[in-house]
Amino acid sequence: MRKYVIMGVQGSGKGTQSTLLARDLDLAHISVGDIFRWHVQSHTKLGAQTRRVMAAGELVGDDLVEKVVRDRLEQHDWNYGFIIDGFPRNRRQAEFFLESYDIDGVVHLELPEEEVRRRVLARRLCARCGMDYNLIAHRPKESDRCDVCGGELVPREDDTPQALASRLRDYHDKTNPVLDLFRRKEYVVTVDARPEKVSVQREIRARLGLPPYEP
Ligand SMILES: [Zn+2]
Repeated sequence: MRKYVIMGVQGSGKGTQSTLLARDLDLAHISVGDIFRWHVQSHTKLGAQTRRVMAAGELVGDDLVEKVVRDRLEQHDWNYGFIIDGFPRNRRQAEFFLESYDIDGVVHLELPEEEVRRRVLARRLCARCGMDYNLIAHRPKESDRCDVCGGELVPREDDTPQALASRLRDYHDKTNPVLDLFRRKEYVVTVDARPEKVSVQREIRARLGLPPYEP
């Protein structure tokens, strides 16, 4: 059984790298963002709560995130282990997490701020169907048109340079203490997230002592 945490700023490819790792090793990919999106789309009580928080321009609270993660882990449907993305969000959660689970490693995807800006500001969203695009990594066939429904592609409302700068500040303020704690336990492998995804995945596997990745 293998238990990993993956950390990295927006645009660092956390989702992609977790998916590749999870698929090959039969890990449960526990993405906090995906869990909340599922609740919103499925109109659950938690989804309604999340929608209200987000409509007010706020982030979902740490306590709520913790509850969702606990509930998810308590399902024990992760026979071969898990990789968790979006948690822990603060030092206290990290401590609780380490007390409850034997972590095999923390993958820290590192991306220079300039590259984060380039990647995040290239994101587009279909105004009609909500499909995600990225003008660098996932280009639409026709520029500014959705491949699926032909809708107009627009930037996300909160993807402005100012909003991104403020999100990055928040991210580092919150994450640095968590990373420090994990580093003290010698769990952290820091991987350069700039190369293309296959190289990043190979590097992650090598650093974690896992069999090489064969795409
Ligand atoms: Zn569309």
